[in-house]
Amino acid sequence: MKKIFKAILIFNCSLLIINSVNAQFTHQDTLRGSNGPGRDWWDVITYKIDVKPDFNTKSIIGSNEITFKVTKQPKNGLLQIDLQQPLSIDKIFLDDKKISKVKREGNVYWIDLKKKKFSISGTGGMEQVYKLMIFYSGNPVVAKRPPWDGGWIFTKDAKGRPWMSVACQGLGASVWYPCKDYQGDEPDKGAAIIMKVPDSLTAIANGMTLSKPAHKGKYETVYSWYVKNPINNYNIIPYIGKYVNWKETYEGEKGKLDCSYWVLDYNLEKAKEQFKQVPMMLKAFEHWFGPYPFYEDGYKLIEAPHLGMEHQSAVAYGNGFKNGYRGRDLSGSAAGWGLKWDFIIVHESGHEWFANNITTIDIADMWVHEGFTNYSETLFTEYYYGKEAGSDYCIGTRKLIVNDKPIIGPYGVNKEGSSDMYYKGGNMLHTIRQVVNDDEKFRAILRSLNSKFYHSVVTTQQIENYMSEQSGKDLSKIFDQYLRTTMIPALQYKFTGDNMYYRWSNCVKGFDMPVKLDSAKDDWLKATTEWKTVAVTTDILKDGLKIDRNFYITVKRID
Ligand SMILES: [Zn+2]
Repeated sequence: MKKIFKAILIFNCSLLIINSVNAQFTHQDTLRGSNGPGRDWWDVITYKIDVKPDFNTKSIIGSNEITFKVTKQPKNGLLQIDLQQPLSIDKIFLDDKKISKVKREGNVYWIDLKKKKFSISGTGGMEQVYKLMIFYSGNPVVAKRPPWDGGWIFTKDAKGRPWMSVACQGLGASVWYPCKDYQGDEPDKGAAIIMKVPDSLTAIANGMTLSKPAHKGKYETVYSWYVKNPINNYNIIPYIGKYVNWKETYEGEKGKLDCSYWVLDYNLEKAKEQFKQVPMMLKAFEHWFGPYPFYEDGYKLIEAPHLGMEHQSAVAYGNGFKNGYRGRDLSGSAAGWGLKWDFIIVHESGHEWFANNITTIDIADMWVHEGFTNYSETLFTEYYYGKEAGSDYCIGTRKLIVNDKPIIGPYGVNKEGSSDMYYKGGNMLHTIRQVVNDDEKFRAILRSLNSKFYHSVVTTQQIENYMSEQSGKDLSKIFDQYLRTTMIPALQYKFTGDNMYYRWSNCVKGFDMPVKLDSAKDDWLKATTEWKTVAVTTDILKDGLKIDRNFYITVKRID
């Protein structure tokens, strides 16, 4: 069965995958992962989340004020709000009028607005803004293994004091606040996060402080933060604990960037040393990707009770103030390139460009976040240690590729593809860079991706097409091969007399990637799936065919 499956996969991979996996998904998955009739007619403008966690009972009480505009007439008059059990909505108001007709279906609330007359924005000049006020409470899902699973984290720091945060990528922000939990709709004008916490703790969130902490009632302080730019729901995160702070200003491509660092009080000295890598990271990434995408919101690195996450303008850090990935070099390179820098500072900050600036509409296309960000590690290494070091790092991570299933997952059901989106995604981009064969052009493409899709949500097709356009090369077969199948292209070759024959196998129909020989000269084979021949005149072919190691392929002699 598996073999047949693989054979068909070559010709019609994506369709087959979608058909075979849909059976595993539920109606709830579709409601969560698609732009359904309760979502497609309204567009979120802002979120204003107000939350009060209770450490002792592991509960929260809060509200979310959602402003939105209406982009088309609702099909059935129902508005979908997501909030995951066991949390529940207590009250809903639309423009200060209480809504009584609300039905719960699992993690979805259907708000019946059939009687409401909405004016469609963009018609008649005026843009009508509506305000949905939702009050909710309960015990949110508690994360068991953050950041890999999701939920609230109610833990204690090393001194036994409360430490709270959230990790919810994949699972979704609706695990802790009511929202339109759909990656294709970010609040266009940002989000406010207001946290009410005990006097002894400090609360931090994305963006900048809106006002000074306000003491409210007995033993309670209110912290208000505001992120001005569009933001992914899963990136909106509270951090509550015994934090201390220091700041610096980074002189970047767009001017002065406020950098602010928050760590637990007893880690201050270690952190001050380790976080010196932040300006280094900004310098390398602005070079490769263009200006940091959120100058207005500043850059923050915040100690978190888990390994790390790309929370926009409030990056979560939990790598123990050590270099590498928890002290390990993921590439296993002889020179230990992955130990020269802090994996979490580099990787999670790399996401500010790919994930936070450019966000995929569907997490099936999450390689756009993880593939490019994985490659940012190679580019960081290259920036400080040279091109060969970067290549060593990138190639070293190939042993982590599993080729279990395609990188692109099934659409519309909030499901990621293979974890190969990281290392194989990075190696695919490295291979594409070889095909482009012009490093300045390749860098210009990375930078223009970030300006073309600035603060946007995208599909993989948009990214693929844009890269083909900008490089002047049709990269479509390369994307199909690496993103939509598990096959590693094999370059077959044989010698007959004075000729060498070569072709691609184990590949998608029409695969036509040129490959560069491992030689001092710029020698290329324009391989396709048909046998081609070349005269064996050069010395380099005499001992067999050697291909530039930067291509993620296999090479097989078959005579
Ligand atoms: Zn990542």
